[in-house]
Amino acid sequence: MSLTGPYDPDNIFAKILRGEIPAVTVWEDDHVLAFMDVFPQSEGHVLVISKTSRARTLLEVEPDVLARLTAAVHRTARAVNRALSPDGLSVMQFNGEAGGQTVFHLHVHIIPRWADRPMKGHGHAPMAQTAALRPLADRIAAALDRD
Ligand code: 5GP
Repeated sequence: MSLTGPYDPDNIFAKILRGEIPAVTVWEDDHVLAFMDVFPQSEGHVLVISKTSRARTLLEVEPDVLARLTAAVHRTARAVNRALSPDGLSVMQFNGEAGGQTVFHLHVHIIPRWADRPMKGHGHAPMAQTAALRPLADRIAAALDRD
């Protein structure tokens, strides 16, 4: 998949947004969805996506959508920090197959990091069970800014 091309309405995140496949939601509003990455590179790996845009990459996103997405990433990252007390946080975003992107619906990764726990490689992490992800999502949701 190159940097440019048509939006595939059957990509995994589009299916999650339509409720066709399950996801462990952290929080959502009319514009954005934050949910647990099912192949977490670290405990508490969250993805944030737009519900309204068909942008595949950062290059295609509408400025107003990017503003909402960025605010959602900020809110979520603050909650991850409060809930899990990591030593660091990696916020990552990949564009195009050559850039490391595997799902072509624009998204941002929030990955908590601990000094003594190596982060798993992108695309090389084992699948997590909902039973393990749901409590993490609940802890992060409980730590969200309320204003
Ligand atoms: P990308 O490689 O495009 O930057 O990131 C896509 C992310 O989506 C990866 O971190 C991958 O683990 C995650 N992912 C792939 N399939 C699913 C899925 O079915 N559910 C969830 N929650 N995450 C997924």
